[in-house]
Amino acid sequence: MSRAAFDALLASVGQLFAERPVLSDFAPFPSELEWADLPPFHREAADLVQAWEVDGAGPEDAVHRAAQAVAPFADWRCSYTEDDVGAVFLANYGFIELYGPTGHYHCENARGFVAYWGQGLYYDWHVHAAEELYFVLSGEALFRSEGMPDVVLTRGETRLHKSWQPHAMETQSAPILVFVPWRGAALGAPPQMQAKSN
Ligand code: ZN
Repeated sequence: MSRAAFDALLASVGQLFAERPVLSDFAPFPSELEWADLPPFHREAADLVQAWEVDGAGPEDAVHRAAQAVAPFADWRCSYTEDDVGAVFLANYGFIELYGPTGHYHCENARGFVAYWGQGLYYDWHVHAAEELYFVLSGEALFRSEGMPDVVLTRGETRLHKSWQPHAMETQSAPILVFVPWRGAALGAPPQMQAKSN
């Protein structure tokens, strides 16, 4: 039963890549994927995603609804501890690795996440080796990236982070749901918060 929900999510993401070239230009949708049968791991973000209804007809809405459907069965993760980001952040944030080295579908040469942040969160400056593209499915947030102007991104809009380019994000009066493909070196390495300079 949960496998069917994941297959539907994967298909909706494949359709998103087909209709939004900014994604397939960044990294091709992976063709060789193996179902990894990960056990579910619940975080509060699962309930928040499940409760977030959208009624649009675009491919972003289709991915959003498919993510709602897998939310109860997914292996929800976070990259940080309470010491890093605080309890409120952890209770309102989480992501699913849909495909990748440790994803619901295994592959070594691609990685793609569905990630959620509730409203009013500050995601502090962090870095990682892999390049990534944030693609907004629903909601909006203020994106900050070193060397680039701050920008509020909404549905269908993107921001690309280069390898080790510091970036931060802030949600204001809305939550955000994003699809985030990674590419390049050290695909399996997690992000790190930047050391505080003061
Ligand atoms: Zn990042």
